[in-house]
Amino acid sequence: MKKAVVVLSGGLDSATCVGIAKKEGWDIYPITFLYGQRHQHEVEKARLIAQHYGISDHKIVDVQFLGDIGGSSLTNHSIDVPTSGLTDDIPNTYVPGRNLIFLSLATAYAEVIGAEAIFTGVNALDYSGYPDCRPEFIQSMNETILLATKTGVTDNKLSIQTPIIHKTKAEIVEMGMKLGVPYHLTTSCYQGMEKACGECDSCLLRIEGFKKNQASDPIEYQIPIDWRGSL
Ligand SMILES: [Zn+2]
Repeated sequence: MKKAVVVLSGGLDSATCVGIAKKEGWDIYPITFLYGQRHQHEVEKARLIAQHYGISDHKIVDVQFLGDIGGSSLTNHSIDVPTSGLTDDIPNTYVPGRNLIFLSLATAYAEVIGAEAIFTGVNALDYSGYPDCRPEFIQSMNETILLATKTGVTDNKLSIQTPIIHKTKAEIVEMGMKLGVPYHLTTSCYQGMEKACGECDSCLLRIEGFKKNQASDPIEYQIPIDWRGSL
């Protein structure tokens, strides 16, 4: 079986990527990053998702220095997470350098274990406008990892896979439900509380994704959500 590293945050998108990689027959090696995120309980969720799939080799990497660098409401708790909906501006939940660092470390891990693919749940459609989720960045990173690695020089076999990059949140949820992705074990809220806030960008996108499928989200929210109501 060919090996794939899957960047697993514990959120809905990355959990769906595990489901997709599994369906495609990859031997999955999840990697999860502790980066000082206020919603650090997502790491525990990532553990549960890996367990659900019977994966024992789950790499959890400490990159708390990203939190020390700061510049994001996700890592600097004195900056409030916005709850006023998506705008055209890049919101303060953007974490400078996050996917550059994550994909670099995932590349290192892939090279060490001999993986041929790195799955990441970046999405450039129903998203917050983060520059490091765009296809241009992934294409550039794909070129970079082949230039930077022994694998790239010898057999050119490592590539970043982004199966949901052009999908809407509703399409992702639809696909995940068909694949039996354990969404009850995932978390998406930026606020880092036990129950999802239902108001941050990430919650709003997630709620809309389930509603468009005439489904209700199996996780708990702090505020009542009318799953049959208008979008
Ligand atoms: Zn939220």
